[in-house]
Amino acid sequence: MNIHEYQAKELLKTYGVAVPRGGVAYTAEEAEKVARELGGPVWVVKSQIHAGGRGAGRFKSNPEGKGGVRVVKSVEDVVSNAQEMLGQVLVTKQTGPEGKEVKRLYVEEGADIKRELYLSLLVDRGTGRITVVASTEGGMEIEEVAHNTPEKIVKVSIDPVTGIQGYHTRKIAFALGLEGKQVGAASKFLTAMYKAFVDLDCAIVEVNPLIVTGSGDILALDAKMSFDDNALFRHKDVAALRDESEEDPSEIEAAKYELNYVKLDGNIGCMVNGAGLAMATMDIIKLYGGEPANFLDVGGGATKERVTAAFKLILSDPNVEGILVNIFGGIMRCDVIAEGVVSAAREVKLHVPLVVRLEGTNVDLGKKILAESGLPIISADNLADAAEKIARAVVKERV
Ligand code: ADP
Ligand code: MG
Repeated sequence: MNIHEYQAKELLKTYGVAVPRGGVAYTAEEAEKVARELGGPVWVVKSQIHAGGRGAGRFKSNPEGKGGVRVVKSVEDVVSNAQEMLGQVLVTKQTGPEGKEVKRLYVEEGADIKRELYLSLLVDRGTGRITVVASTEGGMEIEEVAHNTPEKIVKVSIDPVTGIQGYHTRKIAFALGLEGKQVGAASKFLTAMYKAFVDLDCAIVEVNPLIVTGSGDILALDAKMSFDDNALFRHKDVAALRDESEEDPSEIEAAKYELNYVKLDGNIGCMVNGAGLAMATMDIIKLYGGEPANFLDVGGGATKERVTAAFKLILSDPNVEGILVNIFGGIMRCDVIAEGVVSAAREVKLHVPLVVRLEGTNVDLGKKILAESGLPIISADNLADAAEKIARAVVKERV
């Protein structure tokens, strides 16, 4: 789960991470109030969407205009910029061409930037440890830095038993070219960030840019926090920060039924049990000339209700021209899947070709249920056969 920049800053601040003062605003009036409370002389009005690259992004309504992060020098300009941005769709490198509507703003005091650096924490699956990633090249995407100047990225992996130590934080501070009192400030900053990461079960905490101000202070000018969904039950206060309007509605629906669903751009919906088999199914769909419309793992212990929900979810995507159901019944029984498929197909008045490949526990019963349903279900005997049949059926529908 992701949260907005202002929420991340509020959370990090409670751990002692240094952030500028600011306040959230849903309307231009609220932006004015926040701006007056902060006092001048410089304010920054920042679009709050779950995507980075806002500064360089452009509004759909005015592609030649200014970006989603604006530095202004009067309360009047805070208000006029807030009016310009609220309700408009911001397109950034990370939003995709459809962009995201700006519904909240963060009004922040303007910082006196001397240097822009990069600092993040993430879980490195290779080492199984939290890793600090730091770079002197702040303010730009770290993927670009990694691609063009990998030598400018420093990584330090933290042993979970000791946690972060002074020698870790000093190593990072020196790599960032900090000196004097900045080294102590950066160490305190990073230690606080690490504690927040561990306490809150984060997946990523990224501060880009981390800045050194004219007076030598270290501040988080931007903050991104992403949490491990599997640990959210331990953090009710963090879970409450969820902004569902920023998420894909079909993925929210899937989560309700504990389905692992990821929407993709293709035309063939797939329903599979097991993540590995789901990946293989997507591969083979491509091999036979189709494009998967989604990744969907219904899990090992799916009920008829879950299968029905999954089916509806696949069909709610207007790009879907055919469905491939591929189930290996181990814990999951083929007859349960068949019943779910039949009931869902009836309920949604199935209008696209459906290929079903069943194998494993109660397969004969499952096939019988499908055959006796009277529905135009195409049965397949193995994975390749299934992929070929669905690809062909979709092409035939088109002509
Ligand atoms: P994004 O990464 O989505 O573009 P940032 O929060 O990093 O958004 O802001 C983009 C740029 O705007 C920063 O790199 C920084 O140069 C400038 N900026 C952001 N916040 C402030 C601030 N409070 N004071 C001064 N400049 C800021
Ligand atoms: Mg940024």
